[in-house]
Amino acid sequence: MHRELRRELWMALAITGGVAALAAVAGYPLAGVAAGLGLVAALSLRKLARLHRWLVRGRRAPIPELGGLWDEVIREIHRQDRDSERHKERLTGLFDRLQAAASVMPDAMVVLARHDVIEWANPPAERLLGLRIERDTGARIVHLIRDPAFGAYLAAGDYREPLILKGPVEPMAVTLQIIPFGANERLVMARDITHVKRLEDMRQHFVADVSHELRTPLTVLHGFLETFADLFEGQDGEVRSGIALMREQVERMRRLVDDLLALSRLETTPARAHDDVVDMGALLKGLADIATVLGADRGQRIEVENCGADLVGNVDELRSAFTNLVQNAVRHTPAGGSIRLVWRADASEGRFAVIDSGEGIAERHIPFLTQRFYRVDSDRSRASGGTGLGLAIVAKVLLRHDARLAVESVLGRGSTFTCVFPSSRLKFPPDPSRAPPPTV
Ligand code: ADP
Repeated sequence: MHRELRRELWMALAITGGVAALAAVAGYPLAGVAAGLGLVAALSLRKLARLHRWLVRGRRAPIPELGGLWDEVIREIHRQDRDSERHKERLTGLFDRLQAAASVMPDAMVVLARHDVIEWANPPAERLLGLRIERDTGARIVHLIRDPAFGAYLAAGDYREPLILKGPVEPMAVTLQIIPFGANERLVMARDITHVKRLEDMRQHFVADVSHELRTPLTVLHGFLETFADLFEGQDGEVRSGIALMREQVERMRRLVDDLLALSRLETTPARAHDDVVDMGALLKGLADIATVLGADRGQRIEVENCGADLVGNVDELRSAFTNLVQNAVRHTPAGGSIRLVWRADASEGRFAVIDSGEGIAERHIPFLTQRFYRVDSDRSRASGGTGLGLAIVAKVLLRHDARLAVESVLGRGSTFTCVFPSSRLKFPPDPSRAPPPTV
């Protein structure tokens, strides 16, 4: 047993024994034992009360001298206090160093607590996100970064892709990433990408300008070649085949320029704020007609399935994206094959699929198909009139419609290209069973 505890017990025994002995002399031994125990309890309570007072005063008062085991307890409390004080100092030092490191970082960092309240931010958050740290700590971040895209991004909870925002001053651009941590906390990180954005804008404008400038000379060349073709009609020889080859190449360049211009329009113009309701029945019919005309010499079977729902979007952009998919299906499906255009929608999403029974694509190519100029087989693609930009255009159009492209393919069996639209882009015909009864 602990030495101090033993001493404490002996002391209690001695007091109880002493009082009991005195009481026994007076003829009340049992009452003496009870009184002795009471005295021991009272003394202990007094010491406990002094200890309590010392603890309640925040331990700033001088350490009380209580003796025996009580002093041991106080010493232990005191030691633990000092340990936790040292621990706290270490943590505070670490936190100060982290804060110092965060403030010299070029990137903005903002810690959001529950309900997206700003708990802490480093100085670059003022320059990159327009926050005022002292004023805004404790405020909800959505009330301070007012761009609706930020509110939607924060609420959606899908932070795999960063968000690009305008900075608080023109022409600053920032890329923003959110990292959830702890329970309901999030770290917002923002980086200045003004320089990268400027270079990207320059690239886009350069491509658009060059494509635009190429259009006129190509039209002139095309016109002359048409005339020459008429002039040499019916004649044999190198000149005629040379003209045919030139026409083919000029036609290819025209298609390339058109696709480059379409792509740069999609990259440089903002998506429309209010979209139309696109009549999918009419659009599907148009696509089936295109497939029939393009594959006229191949005898491909074209089938259409329409669920009856409509899409909300930009009809020209959607038509161009879907036409690209249909053209690809026709090009990559041999004679006698089948092409199905399937439009299905339910409460959660809408899926427009172009399903062909063609050559298919090896799995390793699938992740790269939407990159500009990516071709599975360049020679075959060129020979079939492809520019290598079709699926890049499709991907850009879908992005502007909150949609994505899913590709499934089995080599030698066929491919399925599916455009997946969120429910917010769907418009269902009114349900006749829910219509109010006709008034007579
Ligand atoms: P291209 O204009 O060359 O067809 P795309 O961007 O439209 O360029 O397509 C990229 C590549 O994907 C094509 O070169 C082709 O090899 C492949 N591809 C696209 N659609 C299909 C399809 N339905 N079946 C087989 N391969 C396809």
